[in-house]
Amino acid sequence: MSREGPPKPSLRSLVLGCSNEVFRKMEKLVITVAPTGSVPKKSINPHVPITPEEIIGEGVRCEAAGAAVIHIHARNPKDESPSPDYHLFEEIYGGLKEKTNLILQISTGGRAGMTYDKRAERLKLRPEMASLTTGSVNFPDSIYENSPSLIEALAKDMLAYGIKPEMEIFDTSMIANALDLARKKLALTPLHFDFVMGLKGAIPATIENLVHLRSSIPSDATWTVAGVGPSQLTMGVHSILMGGHVRVGLEDNVYYRRGEPATNVRLVERIVRLAAELGRDVATPDEARRIMNLRRGTAS
Ligand code: MG
Repeated sequence: MSREGPPKPSLRSLVLGCSNEVFRKMEKLVITVAPTGSVPKKSINPHVPITPEEIIGEGVRCEAAGAAVIHIHARNPKDESPSPDYHLFEEIYGGLKEKTNLILQISTGGRAGMTYDKRAERLKLRPEMASLTTGSVNFPDSIYENSPSLIEALAKDMLAYGIKPEMEIFDTSMIANALDLARKKLALTPLHFDFVMGLKGAIPATIENLVHLRSSIPSDATWTVAGVGPSQLTMGVHSILMGGHVRVGLEDNVYYRRGEPATNVRLVERIVRLAAELGRDVATPDEARRIMNLRRGTAS
């Protein structure tokens, strides 16, 4: 051995070695695309898909770009308004199932029709996942009302159909409600959460809040972040670094950058590029199924 001893590692190898170690422990990144939602119209961004054909085509392109999950809303093709029409959901679901391997996640959101019947009917399609908002919140222009009995009824339906809920969290208290559903054995576990951040009236999009939300869920739960507006980019990057997953799409954000209309594909592609730069691999739909424990079964 030389008098200097073994060669000292360079600063570069220390830094890279450290980050490699951190990322080795993380699962691959699951990218969800929410292409449509209930609000944005073509007058705001001409790329918002409205008809079933447009939504299915968007799913095909976003899967090719790197998305593993698609969050589905339906619109009335005549006036672009949100629609609870079962047949529209059926057409979108059928087309996506035929043409993609994406995980299909149907929204049970209430903007399109607030009655339980209208919100639950689409679950008969038995998608692998469905969104479940576990509390009420103010939207900028209205109340998004989800009573305890309605939440429980939707959870029971999802359980009966073997659908994994994505607990849609607009504020911290909704996590407690989701945990309560799991305690009552009304939800498939491990739980999966979506933190919706930066919407006026709901939890602000800050890294402190994201750390708090992440710290408030069970250690075996999986989680994704849906930043609204400009926070889609910042919250997405934080989530990549923290081991969470990312939702992008025109439902939550219509701009690529200030004044420049986005497309769903470009939003997915940007997250894929950022993940690559940060050293995190992107999950295929089948890898995402394993990561989110999408095995149809009974509640634990
Ligand atoms: Mg939605």
